Amino acid sequence: MKNNITVLVGLQWGDEGKGRMVDYIAKDVDYVIRYQGGNNAGHTVVNEFGTFKLHLIPSGIFNPNVTNILGPGMVIDIEALSEELVELEKSGIDVSGIRISDRATITFPYHRLEDNLEEERLGSGAYGSTRRGIAYAYGERYQKKSIQLGELFYPENLEKRLEGIINWKNMLFEKVYQSKEKIDFNNTLSWLKTYGDKIKSLVCNTTVMLEEAASKNKKILFEAQLGSLRDIYFGIYPYTTSSCTLSSYAPAGGGLFNRKIDKVIGVMKSFSSCVGSGPFVTEMPENEAGNLRETANEYGAATGRPRRIGYFDAVASKYGALIQGVDEIALTKMDSLSGLKKLYICTDYDINGKLTKEFPLTPALEIAKPKYIELQGWDEDISGCRDFEKLPENAKKYILKIEELIGFKIKYISVGPERESLILKST
Ligand code: GDP
Ligand code: MG
Repeated sequence: MKNNITVLVGLQWGDEGKGRMVDYIAKDVDYVIRYQGGNNAGHTVVNEFGTFKLHLIPSGIFNPNVTNILGPGMVIDIEALSEELVELEKSGIDVSGIRISDRATITFPYHRLEDNLEEERLGSGAYGSTRRGIAYAYGERYQKKSIQLGELFYPENLEKRLEGIINWKNMLFEKVYQSKEKIDFNNTLSWLKTYGDKIKSLVCNTTVMLEEAASKNKKILFEAQLGSLRDIYFGIYPYTTSSCTLSSYAPAGGGLFNRKIDKVIGVMKSFSSCVGSGPFVTEMPENEAGNLRETANEYGAATGRPRRIGYFDAVASKYGALIQGVDEIALTKMDSLSGLKKLYICTDYDINGKLTKEFPLTPALEIAKPKYIELQGWDEDISGCRDFEKLPENAKKYILKIEELIGFKIKYISVGPERESLILKST
């Protein structure tokens, strides 16, 4: 079997450790492409160059032989991108080879403003948005009221379209939100020029590049943002993100057509964590969550918000793996569980007294109660372990139980945030 086209996705609520796994796998590929989402992402990479939190730039950037691409399915805040490029350059990382799809969507400052206005309006019912304007940038893409990166090369046309869009937005801000702030056309245009000029040289038709690469049998890795349960169609709608987080979307969002995906790698955390609002069935009470949050350093990489923490949820994780069509699973943060006396895994949801292993729609999820099995923990520090057989017996049992419950094999076990803190398990 050819093994050239791989997609790496999250199987839960995001923050599973995708950035860390892409950084590891990228040593064996030629291209890494982010295919959806925007700078609401926070992908943490720890390697010989330091510790990085990437928001828009693919996590293959630390591998000098990799061409990194921001795909057409992304929404890109060019101000945030310019800052991220400068930060990486300061750390001595060569960013000149990055390419940005001319069909990707620009996220404007007025999208951030609208995100804030709407979250404020919703009050206690807010989505828990990162307030980076992502939903509004995607919304307008579908409303056909957005600007593509490649339009920077057609300034006259762009100005005309932008003026029309801003007039419409100002009506919305004034009438719906009674906003005192008006979007200023000239300011927006100068924002576009300032940051557009900084990144313009990286913008091109990335599909042509990728088609050529694929025809030469180059190795291509697609990197997803967030995870299965935040997918706009199959996730915990409306507490999802605004894009498709599935592996099946990678060719469209990445801009590579007529090729089959050879392999899907799914990243799964050994417990549950989630940022933002929405039902979270296995959520731990705060007195238990607090400790694990500290040892596992569970704070949002994009926003710094404390993450909600829960026990491993086999119902949600199995569903997450199924909808991604995973071939290989990486189980992360096993080292963070050391020291816990007992571990719990949710095997079923109790919905109105009926047990189910099926992942339901959000209203049912909101009333679902977890049914747990109890396993014994371990005390040993396992971060230096590189051999499955040498893990404490209870850690092995925990991993094998997860495999049994989700019905997929685990290939990688991550025991630390660093690139090489990984156990390869035979499957
Ligand atoms: P992503 O959004 O899926 O890329 O994940 P994030 O980077 O937002 O969150 C994962 C966090 O866990 C980051 O702080 C990583 O450095 C860290 N991490 C990843 N794998 C491991 C692991 O196996 N052990 C520990 N202790 N930390 C890990
Ligand atoms: Mg993250």
